[in-house]
Amino acid sequence: MVVFISCAQSTPVDLTICPLCDRHSSDIASRRLNTNYCDDRLNFQTSCGECYDRSIEYYQDLWDEYNRSRF
Ligand SMILES: [Zn+2]
Repeated sequence: MVVFISCAQSTPVDLTICPLCDRHSSDIASRRLNTNYCDDRLNFQTSCGECYDRSIEYYQDLWDEYNRSRF
């Protein structure tokens, strides 16, 4: 017996909604982060400008912490 499993229809990606904060924004873009992953794709974040700024700040804090513990 063949059972058909109905898959949820994949919704098209709405590039006016930020995937991080779920809010409408006109400046969603893939931007380079201040991270240093070997896999370069991980150094990019698709989000609104606000989330991007927040991420930059977050990673900058981590770098500061990292550098403090190193020296
Ligand atoms: Zn956002």
